[in-house]
Parts: sequence; structure tokens; C-alpha cells
Amino acid sequence: MKRLKIYRESFGCQMNAYESDVIASLFADRGHAIVEEPERADCIIVNTCSVRDHAERRAIGRLLDLSRHREALIVVCGCMAQRLGAALFDLVPAVRIVAGTGSYALLPDAVAASAEDGGRFVFLEMDDDGEYGASPADSRGGVSRYVSITKGCENYCSYCIVPYLRGKTRSRSAEAIVREISSDVAHGTRDITMLGQNVIAYRDGALDFRGLAERVLAETDVRRLRFLTSHPRDVDASVFELMAREKRFCSHIHLPVQAGSDRILAAMNRGYTREAYLERLRTARSIVPGIAVTTDIIVGFPTETDEEFAQTLDLVREARFDAAFTFQYSPRAGTAASETPDDVSAAKKKERLYALNAVVREERGRILSAQLGNRTEILLDGASHKGEYRLLKGRTPEFRNVLVPPGGLKDGDIVPVVLKRLVNFTFEGEVAAGGIESNGRSSGPAPIPRRRT
Ligand code: SAM
Ligand code: SF4
Repeated sequence: MKRLKIYRESFGCQMNAYESDVIASLFADRGHAIVEEPERADCIIVNTCSVRDHAERRAIGRLLDLSRHREALIVVCGCMAQRLGAALFDLVPAVRIVAGTGSYALLPDAVAASAEDGGRFVFLEMDDDGEYGASPADSRGGVSRYVSITKGCENYCSYCIVPYLRGKTRSRSAEAIVREISSDVAHGTRDITMLGQNVIAYRDGALDFRGLAERVLAETDVRRLRFLTSHPRDVDASVFELMAREKRFCSHIHLPVQAGSDRILAAMNRGYTREAYLERLRTARSIVPGIAVTTDIIVGFPTETDEEFAQTLDLVREARFDAAFTFQYSPRAGTAASETPDDVSAAKKKERLYALNAVVREERGRILSAQLGNRTEILLDGASHKGEYRLLKGRTPEFRNVLVPPGGLKDGDIVPVVLKRLVNFTFEGEVAAGGIESNGRSSGPAPIPRRRT
């Protein structure tokens, strides 16, 4: 078998970034080499997103751009591959393999065959378990890593294409998850984010999400454990109680609200009201007083009126979000919402997004400024350049960004700091007295670059 040089690039969510690592491992396990530049590659793999039309257009643009590497075999995988299938051969003629979200294990054989005879392949079958056929752990490193715990989603939020492209919810076995996290930790990782479209749906026999988190904390030396994403309808006090009890289970929750009006929430099929969402936040804060909350919000859902949008602004003022990812509604063919005309004009959506971002920024500044002067701990995970000065970057348990002067510190260290200044939503910290908890291991290569969509 010819040893190939594989280059991969990932668009979209954290799950895609994780699965790109899995794909790299599948190839590395067969003796192929992973390279960081497309110019050097025999095979270019692009992992794509379909959540919004914009994400697809960017991926197609990038694929056309990568097509100039005429010698390389181009593979498209991920959500857009699942959605468009063989149509991708017409859109980007250089593409040789299209692999949907459930077929990554087939890629090494298909690439080898196509490299041999130039054949084209399309794989759109969905796997029926949560496993991947490879664990990315051994080929990785890095202070912070993702670990998938569930695949798929069955919530069918009316705007969302994910359940159609990623299939029903499948949980990975707790055994495999613990093994992967232990291996990550042995390779120098200190911070793990457990991933799923709704991690609260996790089940392995009688073990639920909280049980899994407890098991990971008990059986591994992971220093910080996080999760992403949880559905507001499903998350309950038991998760917050574990957070309050276990310092290593970080006090941050990403809890997408999507909208502030009950009528729009019902039309989105979200399964909660505005008041129920706010009540969840009250519960979270009563159990974990310092918890940071981040969210996702969509503007311009079909039929959303100015008054209903004003209720979203109002909710943002009340909810005290640390940050919000905000999106203009993008109709996705096949979803329930796409049957209702996309009647909020492009200009109106843009105007609402602008207004929403202004309120998000205002609230964010208020919430973060209230932290100034506080003492906390940061986990260092990279460097940042400010003019000629090199500063180290770290995160608090709440996932807040802090910069500190380098002075003898290194990636993976956990450092006590006092938050001194806030510039562009990033803190500048001063290293405080107290023990620096050194990682003592090399942190390995940085994770692959991810393009946000
Ligand atoms: N499973 C996660 C959840 O429920 O929050 C994330 C799913 S999705 C990949 C991430 C975000 O994209 C969603 O929370 C939603 O705000 C946004 N999104 C999904 N479909 C969208 C659409 N059709 N138009 C605009 N934004 C969308
Ligand atoms: Fe999409 Fe809703 Fe599932 Fe999230 S919970 S992936 S928004 S259907």
C-alpha cells in the first residue's frame, strides 16, 4: 500500500473539529502521514457544515480553491457531504470521494482504492452506534481537547437540519470515553470538553450524563471537565449539584435559548417557555452562584415580529449571559420551518442582528467588568502578541479569557491570577501569590485550525 500524505481542514462546530481528528487517526493507524499544508498533500479532506447556507457556500468556495492542487485526491465529508451527496461532483468537479457523517471508517480503504484507479465514491449510510472505529487520543496532544460522547440528535427543532444529517441520538460507551480521556490526560491534556448536540441525552444502560461525568472525574486525572451543548428542556439540578461539589467540573454552561418570545419558541419546537428558561438559570445560579452562562440566539425566524424580537433583547438583558453566538435565520430545505415563508427580509434580519449584538456586548461588558479585582485560576493554553509583547493566554473555569505576562510559565500550567483590566472582553491578569500547578508534561501539537461558520 502506498503511504499517502493526508491534509485535513474543518469547518463548523466543535464536533467537526473532533471528527477531523478521528479521521486523521483512521489514516495514521494505517501508516499514512498527516501533513499541515495542502501543497504537500496526496489527499485533501474537507469536513463541512450545513447548519446555515452561508457555511455551505464557504465550504464550496474553499473546495474550489483547493481544487488547484491538481495532484491531490479531494474528499468532502461531514454534514454538507451528507446533504448534497453525489451532487457535489457537479459543484466541485475535482472531488473524488463524498463521505457522509456516518461513514468515516470507510475512508482509508476508499482513498486507497481511488488513489489506485481514480474511482469516485459516495457513502451516505448512517452508522447505528456511537463509536468511530478509531480513537484520536494517541495521535493527539494539546492542553484542551474535545471528546465526543453522543452522536446525532432527535430534538427536531423546526429550523435545524442536524437531525436529518446526523441521525438519531447514539451514545458512546462510557468505557470508550473514559479510555479516551485517560489517554488524552497521559498525553498532557488537562481540559476536556465532552461533546454532543445535547449531552444531557447521554445514556449507557443505566448511566446518564451526570453518572458519566462522575465516572470520568473518579476514574481519570482530568483537571478540568466541561460539556457542550445541553438542551434547556433537559438539563436539571443534578448537573449543577455535581458542579457545586466537584471543583474539576467547570462552572460554565452553554445553554442555547434561541429566542425570547413564547410564540417563537413554540414555533421552533424548543420545548420550553421563556419563563421556564429563566427559571433554569435561577436554579443554576442558586446551586452554583458563580456559574457562567453562554447561549445561541437566532434572529428573523419566519413570522417573528418587531415586538417578539424586542422580547429577545429583553431576555438578554435579564439572563446575564457571558457571551452569545448570534445568527440570522437561514432556511434549510427539509426542515419544518422551511415550509413557512422566510418572510423576515434580509435587511430586517441584519438590522435585528446588529441590535442584538449591541445588547449582547453591553451586557457582556457589564457581567465581565463585575469580575475585575477577583482572584481566580487560569489554565494556560497558548500565546498572544500585543504589539512587541508576548503574553500567555489562559481560561478561567468559567471559560473566560485572561492574558498574563510569560515570566517562567508554560502551556498547561494552572496559575492563580487577579483580574486587573478588561480589554475587548479579554482580561489582563496579574499572577497572584500561591502555588502554580505545573503540568510537567509536554503539551504536544496544537489542535487543527477550525473555521467558524
Ligand atoms: N445542538 C446544539 C444546540 O441545540 O444548541 C447546537 C446545534 S447548531 C450546530 C448551533 C446553533 O446554530 C444553534 O444553537 C442555532 O442557534 C443555530 N442554528 C441552527 N440552525 C439554524 C438555522 N437554520 N439558521 C440559523 N441558525 C441556526
Ligand atoms: Fe439542532 Fe435542536 Fe438538535 Fe440542537 S437540539 S442539534 S438545534 S435539532
